[in-house]
Amino acid sequence: MICRVCDSNKLELVVDLGDQPWCNNFLRADEVGKEPFYPLRVLFCRNCTTSQLDFTVKKEIMFGDHTYLSGVTKSLSAHFYQIASEVDDKFFKEKRQKSILDIGSNDGTQLKHFQSLGYEVLGVESSKTTAKIANDAGVPTIEAFFNEETMLKIGRQFDVFNASGVFFHLEELHSVCRAIKQGLKKDGVFVVQFLYMKSIMENLAFDQIYHEHLLYYTLKTIEILLNRHGLTMFDAYLASIHGGSIIGYISHIGTRSLTPRLEAMRTEEETSGCNSIEAYRKFDGRIRQMKKENLEFLSNAKAAGKKVYGFGAPVKGNTLLNFFGIGPELIQCLVEKNQLRRGLYSPGMHIPLMMEEDVKVSPDIYYVLAWNFKKEIMANNQDLIKKGVEFYFPVNPMVSA
Ligand SMILES: [Zn+2]
Repeated sequence: MICRVCDSNKLELVVDLGDQPWCNNFLRADEVGKEPFYPLRVLFCRNCTTSQLDFTVKKEIMFGDHTYLSGVTKSLSAHFYQIASEVDDKFFKEKRQKSILDIGSNDGTQLKHFQSLGYEVLGVESSKTTAKIANDAGVPTIEAFFNEETMLKIGRQFDVFNASGVFFHLEELHSVCRAIKQGLKKDGVFVVQFLYMKSIMENLAFDQIYHEHLLYYTLKTIEILLNRHGLTMFDAYLASIHGGSIIGYISHIGTRSLTPRLEAMRTEEETSGCNSIEAYRKFDGRIRQMKKENLEFLSNAKAAGKKVYGFGAPVKGNTLLNFFGIGPELIQCLVEKNQLRRGLYSPGMHIPLMMEEDVKVSPDIYYVLAWNFKKEIMANNQDLIKKGVEFYFPVNPMVSA
């Protein structure tokens, strides 16, 4: 195995989360117990310091027909709106004809906001179901994996490229980078959103590690990748989404100047030591301690005769449930509002999902897997909290949506 970014072979295992099912694969009753398991291990590159998974689940399995819909959560839609208006205000306000290509455009939530600002939009989405939802909603979407081949077929350039997270899942990393380099206009801006490894470590949010996320970036390591392809990040900030994500603005090298706020963040990152192998070793020790504490909490709740439901069934929740070893004997069901997941079971631990509207009697404890929406969840559930329902957060984000 060689480093996905720099091709070095100096890789070292730093976090081993065991064998895990593909976390997005919620199961029908007849599929329970038949799902395959794959190693989930993070390796650290001693050469370029990028952390990454060593095992790749094939992209056709991972992204063929996922059921994650970005339109479902209010705070995500608000976040997408903010991104669109910010990009337009900052870079393209004066421009008459402007265009955007969204990589992994999901149900078109992000592109709708750009449409309303007068952009010609194009989505590229690998999930058939999701691409259809977008097209039906009036957002032109190609059903494909984004790479050089797809870019060649599209055959024109765009003012803006957008990739919210998904860009960094892709196994054809360098092909994707080359495609962006080719498809981005000279003064174009590529907007990325990615999980910030520094935040993951600070939050102990190890559940953000799953097979879809092949790479875990910091400002330093993403720059190494971008530079390889003639691109550079010139501005960035930390957003509360997913407990701490970077929104970064990227251009062709030599076209825009580095902002003081990105310079300051880079300095802070370097000072924090998060690009060292020691930081990863420490992180690993702390999540093993967390496992002990969480199992103790749930066993005590069970012994006290308390009923515990999971709150939300995010894909990352499956990393947590599988690593901690939490099954239906500790958490009876996962309460979820995505209707595409009605009647399904969580992969690996086989906890049944229950639709929000079907919960007639509240449990004693909600174990919150969708912890990154802590603020929204706490605000929406004041009635239950007043009635004495406990909301337990296995991961406590320093910033939340
Ligand atoms: Zn490397």
